[in-house]
Amino acid sequence: MPDEPVISSDLAVVGAGAAGLYAALSAAAAGARVVLVSATPLAQTASYWAQGGIAAALAVEDSFGRHLADTEAAGRDLVRRSAAQVLVHEAPGRVRHLEALGVRFDADRRGVLALGLEGGHSVRRVVHAGGSATGRRVVRQLSALVVDEPLVEVLEGARAASAWMIDGRCTGVVLQDGRAICARATILATGGAAALWSRTTNPPGSLGIGMSLAHAAGADLADLEFLQFHPTAVIGVAGREGFLVTEAIRGEGATLHGPDGERFVEELAPRDAVSSAVSALLDATGATSVGLDMRAVDPALFPNVVSALQDAGLDPTRERIPVSPAAHYMMGGVVTDLHGRSTVPGLYAVGETACTGLHGANRLASNSLSECFVYGARAAAAGLDEPAPAANPADAAPPSAAPLRCPSRATQEALWRDAGINRTREGLERLLGDPHPLVRLIAACALRREESRGAHQRTDFPAVDPALDHCHTAIGADERPHPSGWS
Ligand SMILES: Cc1cc2nc3c(=O)[nH]c(=O)nc-3n(C[C@H](O)[C@H](O)[C@H](O)COP(=O)(O)OP(=O)(O)OC[C@H]3O[C@@H](n4cnc5c(N)ncnc54)[C@H](O)[C@@H]3O)c2cc1C
Repeated sequence: MPDEPVISSDLAVVGAGAAGLYAALSAAAAGARVVLVSATPLAQTASYWAQGGIAAALAVEDSFGRHLADTEAAGRDLVRRSAAQVLVHEAPGRVRHLEALGVRFDADRRGVLALGLEGGHSVRRVVHAGGSATGRRVVRQLSALVVDEPLVEVLEGARAASAWMIDGRCTGVVLQDGRAICARATILATGGAAALWSRTTNPPGSLGIGMSLAHAAGADLADLEFLQFHPTAVIGVAGREGFLVTEAIRGEGATLHGPDGERFVEELAPRDAVSSAVSALLDATGATSVGLDMRAVDPALFPNVVSALQDAGLDPTRERIPVSPAAHYMMGGVVTDLHGRSTVPGLYAVGETACTGLHGANRLASNSLSECFVYGARAAAAGLDEPAPAANPADAAPPSAAPLRCPSRATQEALWRDAGINRTREGLERLLGDPHPLVRLIAACALRREESRGAHQRTDFPAVDPALDHCHTAIGADERPHPSGWS
């Protein structure tokens, strides 16, 4: 056991991707002490891998209303409007703040921010850095600031295992190595869960750890049936399996082609539509990939994508790239209010771990990084308003850490087969017997939704059920899905 078993702080932040780093910096800027726990090295966060950018209504021809309308259209009548309104109103301010923190976004010759176009956006709205190296640039800068911030103590290589609960309130977090952090509020920013699926664009640590931890502490989760599949992940190339080719490249004119060489889908439709079209074509033809043709796109705009493909032996300036859908983004997560508060007092969630309802049934491209910054700042502010722990847990022995549950390869393959792009009752019922608890919750939510909407496609219920518009599925400690309380 390390020397200092209990560390006291104002705020405990678990996870050092975009959401956790930004929440930690926001709290420190308010004068608070923060302990930031990060299980993995920086390069293994989804934030670091983000390519396309950050959505914010900054163009002259854009507006909050337009960004909101695009978010709602992509979300297929399931977006929680209040959460999306917060996002669209506050995203431009967060982008300006990131610039003030030293992030250098790409600009045009006049020095005005260059805005990219992605699927589902009706105008150019995506701020980026280094072409398609946005996540890397932002995370590097925020990490450097965190390291230099005396109010933030970073515990690198440490893993949160359970919430520290006293009298129904989260008083901090217990780490796997036996240490514990005691704080006014604990913010979970452990990322998403797409790596539970065997074919994924995500880093291996995206296993829904924060969701599992929150659920074990009694928090509600919601919308777990909505897992977004990205249509253009590289397939059949050793060393680059699942590598994501950003949608921004289609925004610059790249096209998708079936085995007969013909185009078959509107490339800039929202992601659920493009992934479904690719999947249907693959099923109908027996092919394993479609071809992404980016030969008309200036390779200088996306240098890191082009070089990654070239390293894998593919030359996007001369040939079509073999792609097919892969699990990419979990719209569901820990139920939170508009300030990141979960249903357990003292426990917060932000970024991909959280479910504010803002993405509905299908996230609009590049809204997730915006969410990390907008809600990261909100959660930090609200967390600091929590009362100090009543007892002094620093005098108490923390509970022992619960063992972390990692999925087996068989579980990951079962999720891909039975909760992939097309689902059936039979397949989902099989998943109810899976040894991984979060997988069983995903299956329970997916079984309850007897319709096809956005990222959740049931072959046995192929139509949208209008009666389920704006109905979210929550699941609590009793593991029985129920309607969420959101209006
Ligand atoms: C390839 C790719 C490209 C993408 N491109 C874009 C894009 O262009 N625009 C966009 O908006 N979104 C994009 N996304 C989605 C977006 O990157 C993520 O939704 C977002 O970065 C999630 O940030 P986060 O801070 O919530 O989590 P992450 O960035 O995943 O960070 C999670 C952190 O939690 C830590 N952690 C996990 N478990 C524990 C534990 N038990 N204890 C301690 N620490 C733990 C990890 O070590 C890590 O530091 C992309 C995703 C991928 C995979």
